[in-house]
Amino acid sequence: MKRKVEIAGGGIAGLSAGALFARHGWEVNVHEQGSEIREVGAGIYIKNNSLEVLEKLGVLDRIRGQGTVLERAQIQFADGTVKQERPLRDKSRVHTFARQVLIEGLRDAALEAGVNIVTGSRVTGALPGKGLLTADGGLHEADLVIAADGVHSAVRNSLKMGGGFTELPTIINRYLVEGRAFTSQPKTVEHWSGNRRIGVTPSGPDHTYVYMVAPAWDAKAARFPIDVEDWSRRFPKIADLMPVLHRAEGTQYHYGLVKCPKWSVGNIAILGDAAHGLPPTLGQGAGLTLMNAYALAHLVADADDVAAAVAAWEQRVRFISDRTQAWAVRYDWFTRQWPTSLDFARPLVAWSFGQFKCLNERMRVADRGLAQAGIDMMGEARP
Ligand SMILES: Cc1cc2nc3c(=O)[nH]c(=O)nc-3n(C[C@H](O)[C@H](O)[C@H](O)COP(=O)(O)OP(=O)(O)OC[C@H]3O[C@@H](n4cnc5c(N)ncnc54)[C@H](O)[C@@H]3O)c2cc1C
Repeated sequence: MKRKVEIAGGGIAGLSAGALFARHGWEVNVHEQGSEIREVGAGIYIKNNSLEVLEKLGVLDRIRGQGTVLERAQIQFADGTVKQERPLRDKSRVHTFARQVLIEGLRDAALEAGVNIVTGSRVTGALPGKGLLTADGGLHEADLVIAADGVHSAVRNSLKMGGGFTELPTIINRYLVEGRAFTSQPKTVEHWSGNRRIGVTPSGPDHTYVYMVAPAWDAKAARFPIDVEDWSRRFPKIADLMPVLHRAEGTQYHYGLVKCPKWSVGNIAILGDAAHGLPPTLGQGAGLTLMNAYALAHLVADADDVAAAVAAWEQRVRFISDRTQAWAVRYDWFTRQWPTSLDFARPLVAWSFGQFKCLNERMRVADRGLAQAGIDMMGEARP
């Protein structure tokens, strides 16, 4: 008889894990509270570790033409000087996509693998050893339950293990702008001005992804739609972009952080942002999610004792997410809290992070993928 996994959440975590388990021959139900599979209008950086999983799933081939293969990453200061430049190749390779393109690629791979996606199904919790609970009063029995329901995870919260979500005092505005007028080259540029940052990145042939980051206490920066004059004064070299952003449809969020003491409770696995939500300073939330989903299916799908295999999964892979989360928080702190009186030293710190290989490798531990957890992804993909 087929074994069954019930998954809470139809985001990157739920769809990738669903597709992977279905390809291992499991019956898979994904419960998504929304009426359809949807993402916010923004771009997303997809790094080497994510690409390895998307290649295995056949998703990269499906969506490659709708993304951009980046060649370089730069940090530029407001006066236009480049303070850090990194080539993006090998383990540092990065593609960018519109989020909707990525989620539809994952959705289609999941459906093709035989996943049953149930939209409009809100999960309220889970019972270890039993199954998933939904708002309609259902108990969906399963051999494995996956909590992939994001930073405010109802499943994680129902397990009463402590930890949870904390909002951080940094705001981010995100936009997906039509056209490539502001970024004709395949490079991503992050512009710095004091403790504000603006990232400008091509996101496929016809779109540009822009994000603006500032401390939450910076009242002018927090205005939404943006204060064109104020942002232009702080970023004179890209002032032409500001009226475009003022008119564009965007979203504003606070950065957040999830502390999750355990990712495994009996036959329940906590995956993605529900387990390790982190500030997006390293562009690795989806990367960790995809890697951990791959490892979960790889280690659990053929195991006789599911609960023991889920615990072994956490033991094996968690260190990569914990270290990445710690660096993402440091990066957020540095760019937000660094005192203006020490602004003169900021370029030096930015430069040294680009320059010293050991610092860069530590901060970007996730880019190197699952090989460092002893999981070989080079073997043949399952049919
Ligand atoms: C501003 C920002 C920029 C980012 N940039 C990058 C980047 O460039 N690169 C990168 O790798 N990562 C990035 N990330 C992180 C990345 O977006 C997340 O790590 C990733 O989306 C996590 O996927 P998830 O499926 O775990 O969670 P989510 O995307 O939150 O998906 C959870 C899903 O579960 C559903 N759900 C929630 N509660 C319930 C419930 N009770 N019942 C049923 N369904 C439910 C939701 O509707 C949603 O569809 C960024 C994040 C942010 C906030």
